[in-house]
Amino acid sequence: MALDQTRPSYYQATCNDETRHPALTGEIKADVVVIGAGYTGLSAALELAEAGMDVVVLEAETVGYGASGRNGGHVCPDFNKSMSYLEKHIGRDMAQIAWDLGQETTRLVGERVEKYEIDCDLTWGYLHAADKKSHVEDLKAHRDEAAAWGYDGQTLIEGADLRARLGTERYHAALHDPRAGHLHPLNFCRGLARAATAAGARIFENSRVVTLETGEAGGTVRATTADGTVAADFMVLAGNAYLQETQPFLFRRLMPVGSYIVATEPLGDNMARELIRDREAVANMRHIVDYYRLSADNRMLYGGRATYSGLDPKDLAGFVRPRMLDVFPQLSESKIDYAWGGYIGITMDRMPHVGRLGQRCYFSQGYSGHGLALSNLCGKLLAEAIRGQQERFDVMAAVKHPIFPGGRFRTPLLSLGMLWYRLQDALA
Ligand SMILES: Cc1cc2nc3c(=O)[nH]c(=O)nc-3n(C[C@H](O)[C@H](O)[C@H](O)COP(=O)(O)OP(=O)(O)OC[C@H]3O[C@@H](n4cnc5c(N)ncnc54)[C@H](O)[C@@H]3O)c2cc1C
Repeated sequence: MALDQTRPSYYQATCNDETRHPALTGEIKADVVVIGAGYTGLSAALELAEAGMDVVVLEAETVGYGASGRNGGHVCPDFNKSMSYLEKHIGRDMAQIAWDLGQETTRLVGERVEKYEIDCDLTWGYLHAADKKSHVEDLKAHRDEAAAWGYDGQTLIEGADLRARLGTERYHAALHDPRAGHLHPLNFCRGLARAATAAGARIFENSRVVTLETGEAGGTVRATTADGTVAADFMVLAGNAYLQETQPFLFRRLMPVGSYIVATEPLGDNMARELIRDREAVANMRHIVDYYRLSADNRMLYGGRATYSGLDPKDLAGFVRPRMLDVFPQLSESKIDYAWGGYIGITMDRMPHVGRLGQRCYFSQGYSGHGLALSNLCGKLLAEAIRGQQERFDVMAAVKHPIFPGGRFRTPLLSLGMLWYRLQDALA
């Protein structure tokens, strides 16, 4: 992958935990070896270590190096798909469990922040904004479907109320959801790592796994880095879009997509209040979503645009800033202090890809841009399954995932597909 992952982000500049972990050397044993120290891997490690298992986490770079330390920080419940889609694909009974899982996602984030005292600026409140008239009907349908399944806390905001809450003329309506919110993603990730190590997990950084033995044919489960090996009873693959081609079965069902964020200079209390009065996170409803929020120090963190080619735009700030100014022209004089990007792992149907290779290697990936809360939950489900409680894991594993067509030509094909979505987004 060609994206430059070295640009300093606002999150790195404001990270409150610089704990470093050693690199793996020599041969060690564990009950479970986890590959990847993002939310999925750390969530699984935390649950397993708290249950008394001996867990080793191997991270190629540093904790939160991947999407978990770079994302928009939007904490969203549910899945990318409607409940009617899920009911059709996995049946009513499993869809009911999936609904409950969807509700648990953001609750779990809130509980962990509280329980482990993670200082990560968690703020509740979310606005799904309709910048096309047709999206207002979609918002109502979303609200009504959630109400039919048992959650009626979402409120449609329109007219003067909307103008007072968001300093833009861009939207026809917004759906307020108090279950969702935002946080500092890297500080949250480092907090999970602290909780996992406090429970006994061992984390190794700068320890890229170069050879995997997943035990599919009944053999050993083993992860090997340049300088060491972990032999274990179980493996968790949590490398997501950063795992690259290590596992063909997973790789064929996942497409890494570049997503980008800019952070303005601090805007001051008055401007911050004018832009997002109640400090919710906001996202529009286009295929290529714009997502934004205020940071704790009153910067606008604006994410949008995407690349499907594997090539990083040369001028990240210039790539994203026009989207921000389209919504908030009043920021035209505000300096961009940080611009960065990361990989989102998307699946064909935008549902997470959860499953098992053989009997002892579990994986979860492909949250399709909706993974902050969901990856926390999926990591927990992998831990449950390893401990012999399969029911909730089985629901997620029941979703079948087609492979991306095109083999090695799939990137140009996806780029063409996304051009079609961009055209749709551009139509009023
Ligand atoms: C720019 C951006 C914005 C986003 N915004 C949001 C948002 O606002 N809300 C939301 O819900 N979701 C968002 N997402 C998605 C969300 O961040 C991810 O779904 C989530 O972080 C996935 O966590 P993960 O642990 O599965 O993967 P990652 O966080 O990517 O972690 C994978 C880790 O595995 C490591 N790894 C890979 N291969 C190996 C190997 N061979 N050996 C050892 N380690 C390895 C990597 O270095 C990496 O640290 C965004 C993503 C991006 C990139």
